[in-house]
Amino acid sequence: MNEKLQELLDTVQRTACQVSDVASDAAYGVTKKAGELLSVAKLNIRVVDLKAQVNTALREVGEMIYGTHTGSPTDSDVLLAKLQEIDALRDRIAELNAQIARESAGPACPTCGAPARAGDVFCRECGGKL
Ligand SMILES: [Zn+2]
Repeated sequence: MNEKLQELLDTVQRTACQVSDVASDAAYGVTKKAGELLSVAKLNIRVVDLKAQVNTALREVGEMIYGTHTGSPTDSDVLLAKLQEIDALRDRIAELNAQIARESAGPACPTCGAPARAGDVFCRECGGKL
């Protein structure tokens, strides 16, 4: 393997724990800021948007790695910052998905206790009337 590329990958591996610590701090900040209530539809749009951002960032990481392989090395700090950005985006997506699940939840089934979705007339588990 290309020596520069090996160095870059070694750095990424060495800093893996550190990156995830920083990223969870960053995600916590984002989560606090986003406490406002949004409709599930708006939350879903945000998730789609964030997933597009993750895809863009992953493509950029791929370009950095490939650039290093082809003789235009990427500074490992730049790569790590990009990886950290992806961690924060993915944490944010997980948080939004959890919020969507909470806000989509309807009443529990009186017969079996399974969670019902808003608008359900019959239980999806036991078929009982809600
Ligand atoms: Zn039921």
